[in-house]
Amino acid sequence: MIDLRSDTVTKPTPAMREAIANAPVGDDVYHDDPTVNELEARVAGLLGKDDAMFVPSGTMSNQVAVRIQTEPGDSVIIEEEAHIGVHELGGAAHHSGVTLRRIAGTRGVFGADAVRDLVPVPHPALPSHLLDPFTLVCVENTHNAAGGTVWPIDAIRDVTRTAAELGLRRHLDGARIWNASVASGVGVDEYASHFDTVSVCFSKGLGAPVGSALVGDRETIDRARRFKHLFGGGMRQAGLIAAGALYAIDHHRGRVADDHANARAFAEGLAQVDGCSIDLSSVQTNIVNFDVDDAAAVVDAAGDNGVLMLVNRPGQVRAVFSLAVENTQVREAIEVTAEAIRASLR
Ligand SMILES: *Cc1c(COP(=O)(O)O)cnc(C)c1O
Repeated sequence: MIDLRSDTVTKPTPAMREAIANAPVGDDVYHDDPTVNELEARVAGLLGKDDAMFVPSGTMSNQVAVRIQTEPGDSVIIEEEAHIGVHELGGAAHHSGVTLRRIAGTRGVFGADAVRDLVPVPHPALPSHLLDPFTLVCVENTHNAAGGTVWPIDAIRDVTRTAAELGLRRHLDGARIWNASVASGVGVDEYASHFDTVSVCFSKGLGAPVGSALVGDRETIDRARRFKHLFGGGMRQAGLIAAGALYAIDHHRGRVADDHANARAFAEGLAQVDGCSIDLSSVQTNIVNFDVDDAAAVVDAAGDNGVLMLVNRPGQVRAVFSLAVENTQVREAIEVTAEAIRASLR
């Protein structure tokens, strides 16, 4: 099987399993698990922030970030197809009581002007207590639904500066910030410097079995710890999974460049196939979205021949490259997918 469904399907390598087996543990609910504490310190340091909080999932990390930086009734700005808005099951409304205000981006990227257009400006005839309270803007880098696209650092600077001027807090959904950084050469700390909070995942391209972290200043993360527990995220001997994340940070960060090269080769191969349309400029990291007539038929036929992918929507398939895919499997993945596309046209 060649598993291109997601970069979450990776399994721990033997060396990672060994690190997990040997990890010292404590009780993370009492915050005395040495491996979790080491991971939190390491991630905070990498991102240039005071503190980090280890959580079971990127979804919880984002949801806590929204909860601690808003009041019920607030408006939160996100990109139209952002994970927080389309893959977290209405969590922002459920947990935080906020309204999501969506901006349609280009490859997941929106501009400062769109933020200014959305946030109402008080006027003597329309005092601020009558205006929707906008308190948070969220950026997603890389942008998952757009195909793993990278936010240019200048665009991040513009949007976050404008948001700060308008009095909004800034959250970065950096589930794949590691991929963004390797692709762009911009440090993860440089990205993080423009935001109050950043969520990062260890269980995507880095290949750890479980976990994400929310980073920010000391006061923000102290407050976040209350909601981690409230949301049911208190974990006991969590050092076992934190050890996988630590191992991934030390050993798998650089290798995501291989995934980007594999995604590129796959995309260029498919671009030659009749019945397949692909925007090569959107293939910037490890995700390939391609358009076909009947995505379900293509996914089913490829799956029958050992290449697993997902349907994004009726006319679009998604393939993701990760530690789970060897460079030597890319050619076979192209051939099987191309044949599935041809078969779907017959
Ligand atoms: C996967 C993902 C998340 C959530 O991570 P889980 O650990 O699956 O909950 C959040 N944001 C983005 C952009 C993602 O791709």
